[in-house]
Amino acid sequence: MHNVVIIGSGCAGNTAAVYTARASLNPIVIKGHEAGGQLSITSEVENFPGFPTGIMGPELVENIKTQAERFGAKYLDGSVTEADLSKNPFRLRVEDEWIETRTLIIASGASARWLNLPSEQKLIGHGVSSCATCDGFFYRDKEVMVIGGGDTAMEEANFLTRFGKRVALVHRTDTFRASKIMYDRAKANPKIEFIVNSGVQEVFDVEKNTVTAVRLKNYVTGETTMRDVDGLFVAIGHIPNTKPFVGQLDLDHDGYIISHGGARTNIPGVFHAGDVQDRVYRQAITAAGAGCMAAIEAERLLEAEGH
Ligand code: NDP
Repeated sequence: MHNVVIIGSGCAGNTAAVYTARASLNPIVIKGHEAGGQLSITSEVENFPGFPTGIMGPELVENIKTQAERFGAKYLDGSVTEADLSKNPFRLRVEDEWIETRTLIIASGASARWLNLPSEQKLIGHGVSSCATCDGFFYRDKEVMVIGGGDTAMEEANFLTRFGKRVALVHRTDTFRASKIMYDRAKANPKIEFIVNSGVQEVFDVEKNTVTAVRLKNYVTGETTMRDVDGLFVAIGHIPNTKPFVGQLDLDHDGYIISHGGARTNIPGVFHAGDVQDRVYRQAITAAGAGCMAAIEAERLLEAEGH
């Protein structure tokens, strides 16, 4: 029986581990299928306070893990495939084993949705990105392309015009899911070119290990064209990793955990941290802050219960 189990080893989970380990609660962290979370696929992080010359994403998240281990946090390989939150202790299935815990911090994150083209997958971190805030800075005076028709795509396209020479926004239809205000703002930006009814068929150049061009297909005319780009930002939504909790935790229509104040979920003793609940800020620093909040709440609950 554990005091605290933390699901996820990104910025949120690792920070929760630092705090709970330092409070002598011997946390167990279940690494998950993308160990290190989204930071592990980011290049340089220049906006995490305390690193004036920047730090590589994988190094940052690994540092927080090392810090947690120093205070006694234990990391387990594997993912939670099933959960029983109907009574305390909560039960979690990790691979073939069930583990039990008095408190649970869910920091399982949200995974970027990708186009799932083999060439796109090979170039993630080498010109293909899912986060303009993280990587936009590297495209000063370059040609960039954003895929998507929602608010994130509009926001990222607008943001990227601060750096890029030109931003092409490619959407698969000519109707946009984005809110009118976000759409209008992007439309009014002279640096953004809208390419509708189109999608990326292939990203080049895998051989050179960097993005140089894409092949686009117009779905109405069937025509394919090549276009030179230096960076490709895929902004087609995120998928929160909450599958094992469906029907047990309050989730919104997209599967994000609904907060019941602070780091609390609808189940006492189950806390959320990071992108699994946050669809707005999605930053390493906000995830770290949320991990700290969840840890403090878990610690206070355990103390109140006399553990
Ligand atoms: P959305 O789910 O709103 O939009 C996803 C977009 O990606 C849609 O245009 C969709 O096209 C397209 N898409 C999905 N799958 C594919 C695919 N395989 N190939 C090509 N295109 C694809 O996600 P967002 O991340 O934009 O937004 C998520 C939430 O966050 C929303 O509620 C949004 O309002 C909110 N948000 C708010 C912001 C703000 O207010 N400042 C900023 C950013 C996000 P289609 O429409 O054809 O399905």
